[in-house]
Amino acid sequence: TLPTPEAHLRDVSRVVGQRSAGEPEFLQAVREVLESLAPVLAEHPEFVEGGILERLVEPERQLIFRVPWTDDEGLVRVNRGYRVQFNSALGPYKGGLRFHPSVNLSVIKFLGFEQIFKNALTSQRIGGGKGGSDFDPSGRSDAEVMRFCQSFMTELVHHIGEHTDIPAGDIGVGAREIGYLFGQYRRITQRYEAGVLTGKGVGWGGAEVRTEATGYGAVFFAEEMLLRVGEGIEGRRAIVSGSGNVATYAIEKIQQLGGTAVTASDSGGYIVDEAGIDVELLKQVKEVERARISRYAELRPSARFVAGGSVWDVPAELAFPCATQNELGEAGARALIANGVRAVVEGANMPTTPAAVELLQDAGVLFAPGKAANAGGVATSALEMSQNAARSRWDRDKSETRLHDIMREVHGATYAASERYGRPGDYVLGANSAGFVRVAQAMLEQGV
Ligand code: GLU
Repeated sequence: TLPTPEAHLRDVSRVVGQRSAGEPEFLQAVREVLESLAPVLAEHPEFVEGGILERLVEPERQLIFRVPWTDDEGLVRVNRGYRVQFNSALGPYKGGLRFHPSVNLSVIKFLGFEQIFKNALTSQRIGGGKGGSDFDPSGRSDAEVMRFCQSFMTELVHHIGEHTDIPAGDIGVGAREIGYLFGQYRRITQRYEAGVLTGKGVGWGGAEVRTEATGYGAVFFAEEMLLRVGEGIEGRRAIVSGSGNVATYAIEKIQQLGGTAVTASDSGGYIVDEAGIDVELLKQVKEVERARISRYAELRPSARFVAGGSVWDVPAELAFPCATQNELGEAGARALIANGVRAVVEGANMPTTPAAVELLQDAGVLFAPGKAANAGGVATSALEMSQNAARSRWDRDKSETRLHDIMREVHGATYAASERYGRPGDYVLGANSAGFVRVAQAMLEQGV
């Protein structure tokens, strides 16, 4: 006799808790998914019988490797590299690389785990994986970043391929790093295998709108969510955290749709620009000068910089956490609610703590989890892979239209699953259950 869904979920949670003690981010991500799945397992006892969850929470393969490189002073340095190949039921492993001092196995495993469901939600044929390093690119010269990327790829090359595992960017890895990584892959393998990495330069195999896709996609998702309740983005004030790729292009799209985004942030603090963020200036500061966000306020009379503090204290109707995991906690959620926030849309991966999600949902705030709302980035990566395989190139219009369509589909599938499993409008339940069912079905059909 099969255990009840609840007993089975408790069991899986206990086993993963023992096996992954010391991996708090990973456990947080796993438990958040498990908490959604009781109604799904009640309808699908075959997923319990097939051990789908026990298999899902254990990565298919985890790689940890040494990355030695020489700094500009001639000193040899060593960082740790990771690639977690989590699940390949729906396609080759797909997910970004994060270069940041906070990276460890727990962080990479949480990101890889989220990636499985996110990638499933896009309906593209991609499995889930993630990688990175504790290397800190900030303050490093271009030549140092290049040597680091070359060393990183010297090991990674053995484990990736266009049909095996396709890395891309994440925090600390943008077009520059993807270029250095691709160059090394090409030199070592003597293959111009364009589909092995995504986020490439548009002049040599990259997809149009890939850079913008995560931020644009999050705003498209927000628009769908608001449209469903007869509302919109136009005329609304938004706060955005972060100042990387995701934040920058979320801000750009909010303003294109008639909203006003008034904040951006980095680890040093945040800026408030009552006139609306000047996106060109933001790009100049962050992408060209690679300076701190405080620099923006020096250059823009309508803006002020707040050192430290919480961007969630700034009143707004829409909030887009686009920086990093667990950046929005209970205090932030309370401030947002007190200021009458209508929707919170995760551009980053798991930026909202479980307690904060609960507060927001209980207060009736529309809440979009990252694995649905930020799926536009990896979806556009999959479009890049298609173009590479076909040796074709889409223009900007077609690329953005496809992205927009995919985000509508992701929203539709997420909302439909929230209805089907008994809590219409609970997008956490919707994203977890819709993503899970797709992966679980494929795993079942492919056997043990
Ligand atoms: N790092 C992004 C994410 O969190 C994109 C990954 C990709 O394009 O493969 O989804």
